Parts: sequence; structure tokens; C-alpha cells
Amino acid sequence: MNTLAMRRLACFGLALVLAQGGCKTKSGHEPVHMDGKKTSCRPEAEPLSPSGEGMWPWTALEQMDERGLFARGLKLRLAEIWTPGEGGLARAAVGLRGCSASFVSEDGLLITNHHCAHRAIQRNSTPERNLLEQGFLARSRAEELDGHGLKVLVFQKHSDVTDRVLEGMAGDLSDLERIRHIEKREKEIVKECEAKPDTRCEVSRENDGLRYVLLEKLELRDVRLVAAPPESLGSYGGEVDNWRWPRHSMDFTLLRAYVDREGKPAEYGPDNVPYHPAEHFQVCADGISQDDLVMLLGTPYHTARYSTAFEVRQALEWYYPMRVSLFSEWIRILEATCQEIPESCIPTASRVRGLNNGLTNAEGMIAGLERANLVSRKDGEHKEWVDWVHADPKRSERWGKTHDELVRYLDERTKGRDRDFLTRYLLRGSQVLGFARTITKWASERRKPDEEREPGFQERDRENLLSDLKQAQRSLHITADKRTLVLFLTRLDTLPADERLQAIDEALRDPVTLETDFSPASVQRYVKTLYAGTTLGDEASREALFNSSFAELEASEDTMIQLALALKPALDAWNDRKKEREGGLARLRPPYLESLIEMRGARFYPDANASPRIAFATVTGYSPRDGVWHTPFTTLTGLADKATGEEPFDPPREVLDAIKARNFGTYADEKRDDVPVCFLSNSDTTGGNSGSPVLDGHGRLVGLNFDRVYENIAGDFGYNPELSRNVMVDVRVVLWYLEVILGAGHLLQEMHVSAAPPSGASH
Ligand code: ASP
Repeated sequence: MNTLAMRRLACFGLALVLAQGGCKTKSGHEPVHMDGKKTSCRPEAEPLSPSGEGMWPWTALEQMDERGLFARGLKLRLAEIWTPGEGGLARAAVGLRGCSASFVSEDGLLITNHHCAHRAIQRNSTPERNLLEQGFLARSRAEELDGHGLKVLVFQKHSDVTDRVLEGMAGDLSDLERIRHIEKREKEIVKECEAKPDTRCEVSRENDGLRYVLLEKLELRDVRLVAAPPESLGSYGGEVDNWRWPRHSMDFTLLRAYVDREGKPAEYGPDNVPYHPAEHFQVCADGISQDDLVMLLGTPYHTARYSTAFEVRQALEWYYPMRVSLFSEWIRILEATCQEIPESCIPTASRVRGLNNGLTNAEGMIAGLERANLVSRKDGEHKEWVDWVHADPKRSERWGKTHDELVRYLDERTKGRDRDFLTRYLLRGSQVLGFARTITKWASERRKPDEEREPGFQERDRENLLSDLKQAQRSLHITADKRTLVLFLTRLDTLPADERLQAIDEALRDPVTLETDFSPASVQRYVKTLYAGTTLGDEASREALFNSSFAELEASEDTMIQLALALKPALDAWNDRKKEREGGLARLRPPYLESLIEMRGARFYPDANASPRIAFATVTGYSPRDGVWHTPFTTLTGLADKATGEEPFDPPREVLDAIKARNFGTYADEKRDDVPVCFLSNSDTTGGNSGSPVLDGHGRLVGLNFDRVYENIAGDFGYNPELSRNVMVDVRVVLWYLEVILGAGHLLQEMHVSAAPPSGASH
């Protein structure tokens, strides 16, 4: 490898490169090239902290270097965090649909990010009582609000079921048959597992099928809103500051999980009582300091650390640019609708926020992949791998073809990718069409015996599907939905002749000329008729249709149901293509990864896949670019300094007054004489880690993860010791806000945090 390539590796240490000893870091040491020289990519004065790389499955704790972690500040035995078969403190960390959260009291009080509870806050808002604008505090349990679809997953047990899943798999299956075999086994395992009372099970696939892990969980379905700051604090800085440092967002919300009187999971109900978790975290009002060890627990969603150069190129040149293009237009439409029709603003608020978040993410991803020159670095790694494989005849025999077969397969599957991309988003874009697809697919699958149905459409999924259909009402605005569908129809018209969605072309065919007509007037006309002829915008009607048989739906005159039925062949074919791809990757990725594991040695961790993970890291700053060093803490004074009085830098007056009066309660950090708001560490995180509890060496909660820095968005493709920084809310500002601004002493008491006598304004 040439020196330039080595320097790049030193500045962007991929998981695999690190395992090889690339930009590996030791406590207090500066990073070195592989040739032992200092790198030039960070200020000389700042020592690089021990690497925070790795989102480790909890089961990996058994094999981890406990002594090394003690030396870094761990004060607990790893077995106390999690012991397979027994559990441990980690059980206080829970999943929250796309996010993470954790228990902080005996009475089921949970803490997560404001943005993770955004939809629940939005669904409780009205123009007269807009909780996104005002924030919320329940002064008693009776005042806590229905979370409208929030669900908490408490992890109970993991077990490796790889052998069971793969058992009896013939070698000559087609990819579709292969994935059907895998799914069949997974469904059997899940069924057996769910025979235990109140247990929700899932087989989680690691690295496309390198390993299959059965996760047993308790699903709590009555989750209520307890306290949230207004959005002007919860996402202070808005999209200007999103994915950026320095950051001053108070991105937190408190929730509470409820169960029925027997202690069993139940839907929202007035007689339910608070859930008593087996474990909860102690909240530590002392916070944390620079260079301290932190641990993050949570459910990171997806990483692609072991992807090929081909996949990185595809991400850089196609996937993320597609997202940028679609999301920008979509946001523009929803924002314009909100301007024009103010009643649409609340229902679409969470969608707009999510799209903006995704847009900035996609832009940062492109910038990061380019900056790291990741495609050519992956090519370089591949050359090394080829040399290694061919240096040994046995390796050559076993793995010589794996990489090329995988890439050839991926390449063949790029055909039709634009159509598949648009199809996927079409069903999310028009919520009403999405409802119609769920209802028709549910009816269609119900014609089969339960064990033969598509995963996600079995009897075990009935309640969740119906609850999603009902809860969506509060996030629906018909004009916004119509305009989004217009956007998608217009985009679908750009597809080449052999990739078109026939049902859409038919719908837009002029009855006289028999030509398809995608002109704006024709599309508008069609969408108007479509929405005029459907009742799916109505919650009760959706519920009724959800219980209809397939024949009844076929006979229905509902225009949206009819469109979903006309689209069925195309949507089913799209589903089969997805399945076939999963089958293909289950055949081709695991052997390729086995070779990488053997080549690189022990430090392998599976890609994130929404299963529970733990990361060990250090509180530390970073250098985003030449000549700049970012320190790892921000403060309330910094928050006030940023205020302009205009969105997104317009905090509530009482907050600015309290800061001005230096009314910091007991939460000021001695060194700074100020309350820390956010902090950084080098923890390995990704989407889904939002709301992850951040623990000190004793296992006490000192913060909440909520974001990464811009330079680390591309970290999904490779951990970088220089730039991999995650952004967390400091628990001290949470406690300060609850006590000084809200006067919520009852919550501090519940968390056993001693509150000073209430002071300052109340809510
Ligand atoms: N902001 C992200 C989330 O919402 C966290 C991340 O990607 O780092 O999950």
C-alpha cells in the first residue's frame, strides 16, 4: 500500500482496517501510520482517545476485555451489564420503534429523545393546544397523555438459532426458495417462542445471514407522554444545527409505560397501571467529564461496514442522490401546503421533520464518502484481500470466487432500481394508498394458513397493523397527501418503458386518444377523482375495511382500494424481487464475510441490524477540519448566545431569563460554572441509537444520545477514530429544565434525584 493510501486509512479507520492495526489507537497515544509515523490529521496537542469502535451485541460482553475496560474507567463487572440467560442492568435499555429509550424509575418512567417522541407529541397537539410549540408536563399521572402508537420493547433473552434456521437447506435452491426456507424456519421459531405468555419474538439476521439470533422481548403498548420541552428547545437550531456541532438541543422527552392490573402488556386503557421494570438506571446528577468512559446501550438500525466498493459506489452515485432529489421536492410540497393551509401543519410536522433529517443525512453521506475517498479505499482493500486469498490454495479454493460472485449478483440487480426505489416510497408518500395496500394485502394473505403468510401479515401482526391504521389519522392531511401523490405520479412517469407501473399508466390513459397522459392537468384530475371516491381517509372506515374479505374488497367501489388491487401484481413482484435479493445475499454474503473475518482476526462485530447493542467510548472533542478543534461540551450560556429570537433559534423567554439570572439550580458544572447542554464522545452509533442511554463507568445515566456530527454521517460505512463523534444531551440540562423551568420536583423525586427547592418559572 502506498503512503497516501496509508494516510487515508489512518484518517478514516474502517472497521476492517482497524482490525488489521490501521489507525488503531491506544489510551493517551497519538495515532500512527502503519509505518509508525504520526499522522497529520489532528492537532498535535490533543491525544487521541481509546477507540469507541464497535456496536457489540450484548452477548459479546462475555468475551470482552474487562480489564482493559476497567483501566478505562469501567466500575462494573461486564456480567452485571448482561449475562446471557440471566439478564442484567442492560434490561433497562429498551427499543422504541426506530429509536432507543431507557427506564429511569421503578414506576416505568422512561427517557428518550424529543425527536423520538415527536409523533406522539404531534398526535396530542391541536391548534388550540399545540404541544410541539408549548411543551408539556403532566403534573400528576392522571394527566399523562396517550402516546398514540408508541411501543416499548424490553429485551429478555437472546439465543443463537443459526443451525435451526439453516438446517435442511438444500444447496440447489433458487434464491426465492432459499429465502422462503429461511422465513419458514424463522416463523416456526417465533411461533414456538411466542407460546410463552406475553412474549414477542423476532429472529434477527446478522450480516444477511451470517448468524441468526432469536430475540425475546416484552412489548409494552400503553406508553404515555409525561414531559417534553417545546420543539424550540427539543430541536433547538432545527435543520441549521441538525447533524452539527456545536449543538444546544435539549432533545429529551419523558414517557411512562403502563400495563393492565395483572401486570400484562395491554392497549391504552384508563384502568392500566404503571409498569414496574426489572431494571432501571440511576440518574446521575453529577454528569460526566472530558476523557471519561461512557457506555451506550440501544438498538442501532443499520450499518454497512463490510460492504464492497461496488456497494459504496452505488450508495454514493445513485441511492443518496435519489434521496436528496426526492426528499427536497417532497419537503417543498409539504412546507408550501403548511404555508397555504395552516391546519395541515400539525399533522404533517413529524413527516417534514423526518424528511429534513433524512435529507441532511443523505447530503452528509455523499460529502463524507467523497471526503474519505471510500470507493478507492475499498478497492485498495479488495486488492489486499485478493492477494491474501490467493496466497493459499485452500483459501483460494474456498473463497476465490466469493467477492466477484457477490458483486456480479449486485450488479445484475441494479436493473429496475429506480422503479423499486419509487415504489417503496410511493406507499409511504401517499398515506391513503399505503392504507389501501395494507388492507388489500392483509385480506389477500388471510386467505392462506397462518404459517404460510408473509411475515408481518400473520395473526400475530393483526393488532399492530390495525393500531397503525387507526393511529395514522392524527398524522394525515388529505390535501398534503394528494399533493404528495402528484409528486410520485410525476416521478413514475420518468421510468423507462420496461419498468413502468402498468396500473398507473392505465389510470392515466386518455379514454379518447388511448395515450397515457401525465400532464399536470391530467394528473391533478386523476388524483382528485381518486380521493373523491375513497373513504380510507376516515379511521372508522379503515377499520371496517380491514376486516373485509378479499372478495369483498374486490367488489368494493372504493377507488383507492381498486388502485391498490390494480397495483397488486406490480407490488407483489416488487416484494418478490426484495425477497429474492435477500435470498441471494443470504447465499453470497456470509461466505465472503467468513473470509474477511479469517483474514482480519478477532475484532469483528456484526453490522447494526436493530438488535440490542452496547458501545464503549470516551468523552472527547475532535477536529472537523484543518486548524479547528471542537471541545466536547456546550453550555446554557452558549445556547443563549445563539438565540436570535427567530426560528430555529428562538428559545422560550423563561429559559433565557433563567440563564441570564444564572439560575442554574444545583446543576452547574464546577469547571465551567455553567450547565452543560450537549457533549461529544467517540462512540460508535447510527440511526436508531437516538434516545440511547449514555452511562458512566458505574452504569448511571449521564446523558442521552441523539445525533452524530456531520463529518461522521458516512461513518455507517466505516468507523473513523478521528471523526466518529456522536452527540448527546447532558442529563444535567434535563434535570435543570425539569426543576428550574418546569418545577417538576415530583419527577426528580421519582428518579431519586434530590431536587433543590423549586425556583424560577413554572410551566
Ligand atoms: N439522529 C439519529 C437518529 O435519529 C442518530 C444518528 O443517526 O446518529 O437515530
